[in-house]
Amino acid sequence: MSGHIMIVDAVPTNRIVLKVKLGSAYYETSQASTPEDALRSARRHPPSAILIGDIESITAAELVAVLRKDTRTAHLPIMVLLSTQVSQARLDALQAGADDVVSKPIDDVVLLARLRSLQRAREAEAELSLRESTHRALGLAEVSSSFTRPGRIAFVLSHADAENETITSLMRQSAHHSQRVTAKDVMSGMFDGATASPPDVFVLIIENDRSASIALQVLPELRTRANTRHGAIIAVTRDDMRRTAATLLDMGANDLVRMGDLSLPEMLWRLDKLVVCKHKADRLRNATQDGLRAAIIDPLTGLYNRRYAMPHLTRTTERSREKGRGFAVMVADLDHFKAINDAYGHLIGDAVLRDVGRRLRDQLRAVDMLARLGGEEFLIVMPDTNRRAAIATAERLCRLVSDHPFVFEGTDQEIHLTISIGIAMSGGAMLAGVPLPAAEIEATDLLNDADRALYEAKAQGRNTVELFKSAA
Ligand code: GH3
Ligand code: MG
Ligand code: MG
Repeated sequence: MSGHIMIVDAVPTNRIVLKVKLGSAYYETSQASTPEDALRSARRHPPSAILIGDIESITAAELVAVLRKDTRTAHLPIMVLLSTQVSQARLDALQAGADDVVSKPIDDVVLLARLRSLQRAREAEAELSLRESTHRALGLAEVSSSFTRPGRIAFVLSHADAENETITSLMRQSAHHSQRVTAKDVMSGMFDGATASPPDVFVLIIENDRSASIALQVLPELRTRANTRHGAIIAVTRDDMRRTAATLLDMGANDLVRMGDLSLPEMLWRLDKLVVCKHKADRLRNATQDGLRAAIIDPLTGLYNRRYAMPHLTRTTERSREKGRGFAVMVADLDHFKAINDAYGHLIGDAVLRDVGRRLRDQLRAVDMLARLGGEEFLIVMPDTNRRAAIATAERLCRLVSDHPFVFEGTDQEIHLTISIGIAMSGGAMLAGVPLPAAEIEATDLLNDADRALYEAKAQGRNTVELFKSAA
């Protein structure tokens, strides 16, 4: 990753050292010796990131605060390099809005890994806010605002009896729900179950070579498993573990703290920040999922709608050609449904539709697709199905409706109902020698054919199944 980094430092040699370090990683750099210079040039040509070193007249935290207030620079990644290890100075810079704070001496490898991680995080954030605005443009439900609620934090220990004073204090003082887990718990899929709510943040404590090698195994595991993939990861490493620290960042750790720099207030602050970010991303992801769901699911029956069904039918057509296996398309329509509405009212009519949908769904295989095409009409697509099996299934579905009257709470009346079904068969690749139309066209044709067969079934007196027979 490269880009343009602005170095802000009053000391010329500091600037030159950084310029060389960054240049060796193919970054372009620009330099500012005073806060005023930095502000002026960052507003005019916003860099990809800003490194703030030793400055005069104001503190690094104050400069960060000014940058964050200006809309032209508010979004830029900012890293503060402090000559002091005073924890209050570190915390001030973080609270002013710095993305990261590193105390000197600065290690090249870790610095570059931190920069890469920072830029990735900024890109992810930009992506998220883009999605947020797309969301609004689509008129999907607003992503709720970011009030802070307690998160779940898991402290990952290399082994069960690893004790650590920091963890104990953090667990006591943090407002979040904390738990200790071992690396083995994570590797054996402790968070895999759909019921368990997985942690928002994982803290990897790395104090020796053994825990370093364990962390390098645990991190990719967390990043691949469905339930922990979106969790934030913060590594706390012994000060001399530069390679491990850099590797962890490059493997996707979101944050890194050296033990020597560790202070309780700073760690609590970092954890809060990670939880808030994670919750925000969660909310957006869920809202997107809800929105997508709303686009393809019929709200009355919970079945797929036509918008989903048609591309699915095309895909089934393609798949059946690849595999050379036939499949069935059915259109089922309630008989004289208008009379049900007229006799019992629309609400009961709706309940009947829901119940029919449920009955059909229960009788079909998981691979079959059931959709509500609209009104009182359902589409069923059954892959890998021959004519005989299709007819047998359709007849079973007819009986399932006709033989079991509908009864609803509040009325003791039994509602008798029947359905008619039209079937069209696709031979898959069986039509050898005949050029096949585009899958999309065949899918539409199949639906029309099933519709015609349905019309025939209605003409035959309803409560019956008809198979489309081509004129050819
Ligand atoms: P046929 O046997 O020929 O199919 O007769 P039908 O009465 O079922 O068919 P028609 O197309 O004449 O009427 C369909 C009825 O379905 C009319 C409409 O009020 C009702 N309907 C469509 N959508 C809904 C719905 O979402 N809820 C309810 N309650 N009724 C619906
Ligand atoms: Mg009808
Ligand atoms: Mg109809």
